[in-house]
Parts: sequence; C-alpha cells; structure tokens
Amino acid sequence: MKEFDLIIIGAGRASNLAVSAGKAGKKVALIEKSTLGGTCPNRGCVPSKLLLGYAHVANAIKESQRHFIDSSINSIDIKKIFEKTNSYISKIDSIYENKFNENVQIFKGEGSFISNNIVKVNDEQLTAPKIVIATGTRPIEAPHEKAWTSDDIFPLLGDIPKSITIVGAGFIACELASFFSGVGIKTTLLVRSQRILSNEDEEISAIFKDEFSKKMDILFDTSIKTTNYENNQFNLILENKDGTTKEHQSDALLYATGRQSKTDTLNLENTSIQIDKRGFIKRDKLFETNAKGVYVVGDASGKHMLQHAAAYEINHLGKILLEDCKEPLYFKYMPHAVFTEPEIASVGITEQKAKEKNIKYITSTTNWLASAKAMSTRLHYPVTKFLINPDNYEILGCHMIGPESSTMMHQVLAVMHINNDVRHIKEMLYIHPALSEALLPAAVAAVKEVEKYNKKS
Ligand SMILES: Cc1cc2nc3c(=O)[nH]c(=O)nc-3n(C[C@H](O)[C@H](O)[C@H](O)COP(=O)(O)OP(=O)(O)OC[C@H]3O[C@@H](n4cnc5c(N)ncnc54)[C@H](O)[C@@H]3O)c2cc1C
Repeated sequence: MKEFDLIIIGAGRASNLAVSAGKAGKKVALIEKSTLGGTCPNRGCVPSKLLLGYAHVANAIKESQRHFIDSSINSIDIKKIFEKTNSYISKIDSIYENKFNENVQIFKGEGSFISNNIVKVNDEQLTAPKIVIATGTRPIEAPHEKAWTSDDIFPLLGDIPKSITIVGAGFIACELASFFSGVGIKTTLLVRSQRILSNEDEEISAIFKDEFSKKMDILFDTSIKTTNYENNQFNLILENKDGTTKEHQSDALLYATGRQSKTDTLNLENTSIQIDKRGFIKRDKLFETNAKGVYVVGDASGKHMLQHAAAYEINHLGKILLEDCKEPLYFKYMPHAVFTEPEIASVGITEQKAKEKNIKYITSTTNWLASAKAMSTRLHYPVTKFLINPDNYEILGCHMIGPESSTMMHQVLAVMHINNDVRHIKEMLYIHPALSEALLPAAVAAVKEVEKYNKKS
C-alpha cells in the first residue's frame, strides 16, 4: 500500500490543486484515466472555442452584405481547421505533466474506492488522510454506435462530413451547430420542443431562436424515430410532435443531449459516500462527502458544470486543505456565456426564476443602439436585460445577447463582485463610443424603472 498526504482522482481542474499541494510539500497521488487537463482543454471549452473562431470569420464574410460589401468564400479548408485543433489537443497532456513538481506522482488509470480511505488504480492500492474526487462528467451516450457525442470530435479523426445533424438544444449543441454551419457544413439542429437554450431568460432565448434560425435548419418539436446507417450515411425518420414524419439524410449524427455523472466507475458502494437522484456525489458546505476526509469538487458534484465554477471551487478546496480555511464558498451569482452567433452572456436569475421564487424585481430591456460601436455592427437585435431589486438597486440578474456579450458582461460582474448596485453602472465614466457604452442606457433605464416602481408603491 502506497501512502500519500493527498489523493486526487481526476486531473481536470483539480490538476491545479495537485500543483499547489505539491508546492506546499505534500505528497500527492494524481490519478487520471485519460489525458491530463480534463474536459476543458482536451474536449470542451478550449477546442470548441478554437473551432468557433473559424466560424466567426466565415460568418463575417457570409454576412458582409449587411455592410454593403459583396464578398464570397472561395473555399474553407475544414481538414486544416481540424488538424490545427487536433494538434492543440495533442499537446495538452505533456503541458500538464510539466506543471507538477517531484512531490506529485501521476497514476495513469481508472481510480476506484476499496474503502473510504483506500483507492485502487491499476494493480496498486493507495491511501491518504485526504482524498479528492474531481472526476467530472461524460456526455450522455449516443443511442447509435456510429453517432457521435462531443467527445468524438475532439479530436476529430477520419473524414470531414459534408452534412451533420445535431440533436440537442443546450449550449454545447448550439455552439457545435454554430461552428459546423459557420464553416459551410450543411447543419440541421433537432430540437425536441419549441424552446432552445431553455435555461436562458425567455426574452433572450426568443431573440436567439429568431436569429439562430436564420443561420441553419432548425427543426423544432422534432425527434428521431428511427436511425439507419448505410453507405457512410445516416438515414433518419424524423417525427414531429404532431405525429407527422419525414425522411432525413446526414453524413454525421451528433448527440449533445446533456452530461452525466461518472460516479458509477468509482465503486462508491465500498464507501459511505452518498449520491443524489441524478448520480452526483452529495457534499457539505466545505465540499466534504459523507466519508470523512473525502471531498468532491467541480462537475462531479453536479452543481454548475462550468469550467470557471470548477476552478473557483478547486482553488477554495486548496484553502480548506492546505490553509485550514473553515469558510464555505458562496456562489451568489454564477455567470456563463454561450459563444454562438448570436452570443449570449448571463448572470444571476432569469425573469422566470424570479417569478417562480416570488422574488421582488423590476426589469428593463434596452437595445445597444446608443453605442456607435454597437451601431457599426449593423445588428438590431442586441439587448441588455436587467432584473433589479427595487428596494436597494441590487442587480439580481443581467442577460445580454449581442456580439462580445461575454466580454461586456464582465463590467457588470465587477460591480456585482465589489458593491452590487446598478447605479454604479449608470454613474461610471465610459470610453465613448466603445461597445461597453451600450450598458450605460441599460443601467439608466433600470434605475428609472426602480424609481418609477418606488414612486408608485
Ligand atoms: C464541448 C464542451 C464545451 C464546453 N464549454 C465550456 C465553456 O465554454 N465554458 C465553461 O465554463 N465550461 C465549458 N464546458 C464545461 C467544462 O469543460 C467543465 O465544466 C470542466 O471541464 C469541469 O472540470 P472538472 O475538473 O470538474 O472535470 P473534468 O475536466 O471533466 O475532469 C475530470 C477528469 O477526471 C477523469 N476521470 C473521471 N473518472 C475517473 C476515474 N475513475 N479515475 C481517474 N480519472 C477519472 C476524467 O478523465 C477527466 O480528465 C464545456 C464542456 C464541453 C463538453
């Protein structure tokens, strides 16, 4: 039995904890069954955004008519795009390997529990007073052996499809559809209901639906009835909610229907660790599971499923384990973005959630057209929607749709982080006529709505 100070199962974001624990002189075992670095750099955030960069340029050319420019694309070397992306991915494992000092021992293999404090990897048994589970999630499996999930395109090996059908309506489905259609692969998105990006504020997802539908075929209320794969092609029978069916052909079929827990591989039945109904590990406010000294962080807890949330949690777990911090981490607001065209950024509650939870709020939605830089995009749909607590001007939610929303949102996040009051966004000095200046009329309108509300009541 090998003894350590700390065992970490899963070298995604928790690699950072292995780095800091190693630096602090702790003897660390880091267990990883795949490539070091985890989902984000290998098959998630980073490669998907690298792909979207190419689509962004292609879309700008395709839509140049909006700027009275007549241009066309001669060809797009999609093979090269994937070669570049695959080459980025192929370097990740060794980049991560070089981050650790001599105190960190890497075990390549699947870790599972023998008891609360003994972990097995390959034929070895390891023990430590502290064990961290950071095993992330995996895509819900595709129901046909030839169909893909996002894991199958990072890296994409083999031929580039000429057409692709994507099943799903969440951010991964939409981002991948944005890429494939952007670079000229005939893309069809199958959406089970009428709503797309249904976690977003309804007003924002309605704008998204209108704009996104202009870029590709989106079949709403549609699911796959039968799947047949023959001669390198999928022959599908699609069924609409109203019972009508139609045939549909596609070179590739990609399922992006959600992500699931990986805890089934950990032999948790040998421990006192408990899981919830969705299979995610339960934990207390200091990330500790029902087994003393065993912690769970990142996607494995099933909480936020975002890279920045995982990184934030793992950084805090470092303080708990290495600095004896006893404070829980409190996420009052969890921002996120969808890097499609149109781009969405969001923080805090949506109007639906505010209604559901009976939270007092006022709302205002303002277009970006007061900013010359926004006007120069010649797009009319971009808006900012604020939800504000009328008692104290606190920003309860902010939702944006428009180019660079994810960048613009950071201005709101900074205010929310330091002193959450929408009046700061109204009173601050802006560089004229930067894109961010579009936030000024949005904040002015929100403050006006609060004042109106308070006058009435
Ligand atoms: C296509 C895609 C795009 C995304 N885009 C974004 C984005 O733009 N922004 C964002 O914030 N988030 C994005 N995400 C989500 C983000 O990737 C995850 O939230 C983040 O990677 C979670 O980090 P983690 O360390 O918790 O888990 P992971 O990064 O998944 O790491 C878990 C690691 O544990 C390993 N493992 C699992 N079980 C075992 C075991 N039993 N033994 C040994 N090793 C094991 C896995 O192989 C993996 O390396 C995206 C995800 C996908 C799939």
